[in-house]
Amino acid sequence: MSRTVYVNGDYLPEADAKVSIFDRGFLMADGVYEVTSVLDGKLIDFEGHAVRLARSLAELEMASPIGDDDLAGMFRELVRLNRIEQGMIYLQITRGNPGDRSFVFPDASVPSTIVAFTQDVPNLAEPPVAKVGFKVITIPDLRWDRVDIKTTQLLYPSMGKMLARKAGCDDSWFVADGAVTEGTSNNAYIVKGNRIITRQLGSDILHGITRAAVLRFAAEAQFEVEERAFTVAEAQAADEAFSTAASIFVMPVVEIDGKTVGTGKPGPVAVRLREIYLEEMRKTAI
Ligand code: PLP
Repeated sequence: MSRTVYVNGDYLPEADAKVSIFDRGFLMADGVYEVTSVLDGKLIDFEGHAVRLARSLAELEMASPIGDDDLAGMFRELVRLNRIEQGMIYLQITRGNPGDRSFVFPDASVPSTIVAFTQDVPNLAEPPVAKVGFKVITIPDLRWDRVDIKTTQLLYPSMGKMLARKAGCDDSWFVADGAVTEGTSNNAYIVKGNRIITRQLGSDILHGITRAAVLRFAAEAQFEVEERAFTVAEAQAADEAFSTAASIFVMPVVEIDGKTVGTGKPGPVAVRLREIYLEEMRKTAI
């Protein structure tokens, strides 16, 4: 079924949606994005995504083409037009089309490009893989030093995903200076007893919106939370491991580089945090 998508203020059939070949998003990956989940036809943690979007734009000195209320309204309209019960909304904002290719940023008179579309995922809350968990491999983190900005430069994460596929796994975790940074498109955690360990915020990981919520819920549920780097060996020897992202919520990780983590089945902490996350976020969805 053809989707209705959003391009620069218009709702259009996807086949009619067009962006210039001179758009800096296309030529330079000069753009930022957000992925917001939809459950029960409602937006999950809209505010968190809107705040991070504003930060990404500010870090790149890119003007925001839309206010938060209009953004929420546009997301809701896309959900309604495409009858999404469970799925995602992808939003991308680029520095626009200066009419030619140049490394120099165009002046402020060039409007940003804003596009958004829905992805229908009827089993988003209960995908089969959540019952068995992810198998991951580790690969060197070869990304640039500002991955805290959610840019559309996703070639290396995409290559990481392909390497994982080739190894018969679900994802890659990146490693820098001997420690895990994060997954290709998710934050990484280990569990030891009652303690949940995840890398501290910095410019070397994306400040996950799901991460913030999960750590809050974990603390409320009396888990200890420790924000620090951990090694691959420590992760392999942990009781449990998991990843978080808006599109996978809390995903158990049961194998790292061929070594079984814990029992090799989704662990009780990850399973519990997934339940709490879904329950709590459904309550505040808009
Ligand atoms: N880390 C990276 C590199 C990501 O690409 C993502 C999501 O796309 C995340 C972490 C998780 O962020 P969030 O929970 O906001 O989806």
